[in-house]
Amino acid sequence: MNAKILDGRKIFSVFKEDIKKRILTIKQTIGADIRIVNILVGCDAGARSYANVQKKTAEEVGIVYELQEFPADITAAELLKALRELWQDSGITGVMIHKPLPKHINEQYIFNHIEPLKDIEGVNAVNIGNVVLGRNHLIIPCTAAAVMEHLKAAEISLRGKDVVIIGASAIVGKPLALLLLNEMATVTVCHIATTEAGRLEDHVARGDIVISAAGKPGLINGRMIKKGAVVIDVATNFVDGKMVGDVDFDSVAAKASMITPVPGGVGPVTVMMLMRNAVEAFWLQHCEEEEA
Ligand code: NAD
Repeated sequence: MNAKILDGRKIFSVFKEDIKKRILTIKQTIGADIRIVNILVGCDAGARSYANVQKKTAEEVGIVYELQEFPADITAAELLKALRELWQDSGITGVMIHKPLPKHINEQYIFNHIEPLKDIEGVNAVNIGNVVLGRNHLIIPCTAAAVMEHLKAAEISLRGKDVVIIGASAIVGKPLALLLLNEMATVTVCHIATTEAGRLEDHVARGDIVISAAGKPGLINGRMIKKGAVVIDVATNFVDGKMVGDVDFDSVAAKASMITPVPGGVGPVTVMMLMRNAVEAFWLQHCEEEEA
């Protein structure tokens, strides 16, 4: 293996200390707690296990974490009614809603009803719109933010670089493309139709930086990437009970200059970005005027 490992747990630890300090300052100077609520609708074991990771991380930095569970057959109107109480409760700093919601509920409709300053996952149209406008000091989607922090920690300059993203979802690929564009990278976003057209290899081969968020184990291998490329694997797939990404780690690590592992790469940093967003949300809620 030649590639340097971009260790998400290290980045996690650095942020943990910083966020802990910021939360302590809030407690000491304002006397307030940061409280976040995770909403689970008809959840499964995977959702509960992710909720446990969030809870542990929240407690490590001093954030009060609460779980609210609703049955899978709840209507959108009933869910919104319950959520409105959270927007109105000034003691609650942030809310996240576990995805996917049951099929009979229009997910984005619900997300768009989240009070934007309490939307700590950055899924509301207002917060997504702020990313489009380059207003990155506000709340930004956690996974996209986590990828940017990996690149920053590795001191990778983005200006003029060819970045190839695989995966174009509203929560990962699209906001990430905009954040990279805001840093003056040249961004290509691939998706399922790119693969269907037989063009994925052509695009990936051009990438100085390749970021995969497709959810397809083994999608990216060493033959496809440029020598010395930086490879970030966002995906979390389960194969035979083991967590793997999209990237065939061994063949890619032999040719890349830097690579993130799965697990231990983007995942832990994403959860920490949620905590960072909660702190940002607190200040946005408590400042009289938003920074211009
Ligand atoms: P999604 O299903 O909403 O979107 C997947 C995207 O990948 C789509 O744009 C689709 O067109 C594309 N795609 C699928 N198969 C492809 C293929 N064969 N070739 C090219 N493109 C293909 O998924 P999502 O919610 O964006 O999540 C993507 C992956 O990232 C999943 O594995 C998910 O578990 C993981 N994820 C990880 C984190 C984290 O913190 N590490 C956070 C969110 C999502």
